[in-house]
Amino acid sequence: MLTRDEIQIYSQQIKLNEIGLSGQMALKKARVLCIGAGGLGSSLLLYLTAAGVGTIGIIDDDIIEPSNLHRQVLYQHAQIGRPKAEMAKQQLNKLNPTIRILAYSERLSIKNAENLFNEYDIIADCSDNFDTRYLINDTSFLMNKPYVFAAVSQFGGQCAIFLAKNSACFRCLFPAVPSLNCFSSCEESGVLGVIPGMFGIIQATEIMKWILKIADTLPHYLFTIDALTMKFQRLHISKNQDCPLCNKL
Ligand SMILES: [Zn+2]
Repeated sequence: MLTRDEIQIYSQQIKLNEIGLSGQMALKKARVLCIGAGGLGSSLLLYLTAAGVGTIGIIDDDIIEPSNLHRQVLYQHAQIGRPKAEMAKQQLNKLNPTIRILAYSERLSIKNAENLFNEYDIIADCSDNFDTRYLINDTSFLMNKPYVFAAVSQFGGQCAIFLAKNSACFRCLFPAVPSLNCFSSCEESGVLGVIPGMFGIIQATEIMKWILKIADTLPHYLFTIDALTMKFQRLHISKNQDCPLCNKL
């Protein structure tokens, strides 16, 4: 059941035919795990919290650094040196005290991934490195959980949603770590502050659509933006016959 307060807070999205009270209840029941509370995580977490997703987990072992602040809009100057997962939780609790937020100040690893994923319905990848992306992909695939991927660098980025056996997986797309410049991390090549914000919001949109079961999510497509030319592309992706994961099962 939704409280009178909740109905008031979410009234503008409850008003949508595609959502209504039942959709809002689905959001309240949903459990989303966000891996990485940096630039992508900042905007994704703010919007999912504001929208009333009932349980949100945040895993990140980093502390806030001065060079994070131009894009990691969850944090404040006075919080430099503090742990991101805890600070994110504090900030998000202020935005929406009616939802449950869990902070894990540790690194995602092969040791904790399965237990952690077990507590959530859908996995948001807001990390910045290929080791973590492969770990998220393989664990979500084997546990049959949707995996929402995004990566950003400089003036652009890409996003996709992988639905375990029902779509291509991250390894179908990237069987090996690409050497392309567009996949270097923000710390290596720099990034315009708004870019991770844009992609975190796109990830949050896809997650809400998946929870609400409305419209098509992005499986089978890689969505890319180049902000310098404002070229938006949706590239079709399909299962790779040579994928070491999809072909193993
Ligand atoms: Zn695959």
